[in-house]
Amino acid sequence: MIEDGNMTTFQSLGLVDTLLRAVEAEGYESPTPVQEQSIPPLLAGRDVLGVAQTGTGKTAAFTLPVLQIMDRNKPGGKRHIRALILSPTRELAAQIDERLGAYSEHMDVRHRVIFGGVNQNPQVRALQRGLDVLVATPGRLLDLVGQGHIDLSRIEFFVLDEADRMLDMGFINDIKKVLKLLPNRRQNLLFSATMPKSIATLAGSFLNDAVMVDVSPKEMTVDRIQQKIMFVRKADKRRLIVKLIKEQKVKCGIVFTRTKHGANRLVKQLDQSHISAAAIHGNKSQGARTKALEGFKKGSIPILVATDIASRGIDVEGITHVFNYDLPNIPESYVHRIGRTARAGRSGVAYAFCDDSESGYLVGIQNLIGMEIPVETQNPFHFEGAIPKPGQKAGEMKKNSSQNKNSNEGRPRQHGYKGKRGSNSNNNNRGQSRNSRDSKPNNNNRGQARRKPSEGSSSNGSRNDRNSGGRSNNNSGNNRRQGGPRR
Ligand code: AMP
Repeated sequence: MIEDGNMTTFQSLGLVDTLLRAVEAEGYESPTPVQEQSIPPLLAGRDVLGVAQTGTGKTAAFTLPVLQIMDRNKPGGKRHIRALILSPTRELAAQIDERLGAYSEHMDVRHRVIFGGVNQNPQVRALQRGLDVLVATPGRLLDLVGQGHIDLSRIEFFVLDEADRMLDMGFINDIKKVLKLLPNRRQNLLFSATMPKSIATLAGSFLNDAVMVDVSPKEMTVDRIQQKIMFVRKADKRRLIVKLIKEQKVKCGIVFTRTKHGANRLVKQLDQSHISAAAIHGNKSQGARTKALEGFKKGSIPILVATDIASRGIDVEGITHVFNYDLPNIPESYVHRIGRTARAGRSGVAYAFCDDSESGYLVGIQNLIGMEIPVETQNPFHFEGAIPKPGQKAGEMKKNSSQNKNSNEGRPRQHGYKGKRGSNSNNNNRGQSRNSRDSKPNNNNRGQARRKPSEGSSSNGSRNDRNSGGRSNNNSGNNRRQGGPRR
């Protein structure tokens, strides 16, 4: 491989000129780690299992080689769908499609995104005109397949993006249905931010001798993000966020709440403090979500209040501040959240508010990212009682706090917390050790599949231990590129 000094270049990865021009136009100077590791094996026709989250450059990692191979082997005849990219959310799907447009600028490739919640007719018309690449969310895809508008029998590339989120959202059965519609001979790509057993099993069911690429969250809590934790009473969080937004004159910030209701309420409260904000979550119509996002991107809405799922795929380069208004109960979500800032080489600040009911979540997060988040002491609302106790376990609720009685607002009920010390409830212990990433993720039990240990194991070879789905179980970050050719 040709190296430019010690630096890998897009050219040295084997990309053709049309794509090199496109990435140059995007201002990318060098490939990100996930691109470096994924592009060569993909160009060589291998399946890839990528552990990488949004923000790592994974979209280009899978899009560029797929485009290159498609362009190289153009079939004659009428245009048909050759690549299918499945994504859990509309936002992410739209984002991928937008990236496809940028990267295929100099190629004759027709692509289109389809998702639910909007009129299907324009999507059907685009399908009738003929497409090469289809980006879809599972529900609308299967709907349109059912109506005879989509034929997946000539798919050459199948990309399953954000697979862990797919399972969290209960899409496992839809994924299995889609897999049954695909031809046997194809190249498969699976990307997931985390690698719990359920994903390894799913990967094992359809990847063939895949190269594993792991850009673990630990490395992805980018140095450019200045992280700060603030201990605070729940009742003071609102005043604290207003103070920070005003003092720091935040013009492009995203605030995370744990629930949709909490997001709506906070938007109202910010409004009362003369801070313009919009909420983005699953209960909002597609139109409202698009409008909020557009306003945010344009700068007319400085603050976006989001839940974790809705935030997937939000890719706004200029976000300077991320506020964890509620700490996430899933440690990996913290990494996703803070990754909304410091995009594309910029820097950013990520604040996390921790009240006394959330200190166990903080322990889980710190275990996952392998560091203690610096405490911001310049905080008039500083509350010692929220600091984790020595030896406190991840995800554990503190008991006996009078605050706790009132502090469950904004916390979804299904977490099963009983406030019992050592109850080790649900999966909030995922962050306790790196190995615990292998444990079955049982928290977001929105997905019925969660309850089945055999989820994802379709009949076509889930016992295929030789592939990376099986291998990934012992991946804890140091055996990073198992099975793949080193560059
Ligand atoms: P993704 O993880 O695919 O959502 O990408 C995150 C962001 O990184 C997007 O804004 C991309 O445009 C940007 N990006 C992707 N690859 C590179 C690269 N090699 N250099 C700089 N920015 C990149």
